Amino acid sequence: MKRILIIGLVLLLGACGLARPRSMDARGADSFEDDVRTARTLTEEFWKQYFQRRLGTTYRPIADFVPYSGKSGPKCGNEPAAPNNAFYCPVGHFIAYDQDWMESLWNEMGDGSVYVIIPHEFGHAVQAQLQTDFQLNVQMELQADCYAGGTLSSLVSSGALETQPGDEDELLLSLEAAGDPTDDWLNPSAHGTAEQRQASFAAGWRSGVDAC
Ligand SMILES: [Zn+2]
Repeated sequence: MKRILIIGLVLLLGACGLARPRSMDARGADSFEDDVRTARTLTEEFWKQYFQRRLGTTYRPIADFVPYSGKSGPKCGNEPAAPNNAFYCPVGHFIAYDQDWMESLWNEMGDGSVYVIIPHEFGHAVQAQLQTDFQLNVQMELQADCYAGGTLSSLVSSGALETQPGDEDELLLSLEAAGDPTDDWLNPSAHGTAEQRQASFAAGWRSGVDAC
């Protein structure tokens, strides 16, 4: 089970006294629910077209997109869903997320957090379809970060998302202190260091998912 957990930036922004940044602006997406729905829809639309045009195959949409609260999340295989997390589950091909946790990030960090976490999880759903072999978990995580960067830059280029100056920095900051609670997330080898994750996201952002 691949997961992303984002912490730290909340405290960072709080300490700086920043107001909630409103940046990754999808037209008409003004609430948390709108941003979550929009991030899912646009990310899947991107991959659908990418599979069709670049790979000549058909993208398989996720079977379910499940919000949960605390410990009430769906199991993945035998593993219970952790609070304060989002994850892709290959058993059942679904994505689930703690909506309270994600909304608090949205409130504290800005909507960029949603537009990093959701495309990252869809990156794992894509990996499952491409069946790439990875030697190490960290390679898979860094590729998912790269996919997230590539997805977002493509959506910005196409006009589906609007950005403001400083957005790239905000998105990169969203990857700081990110990790995996089921995978010893204090150990950088699980997800990569903050520097590795930012570099990977930035590579996708600048050069597109082909560079991932
Ligand atoms: Zn992940």
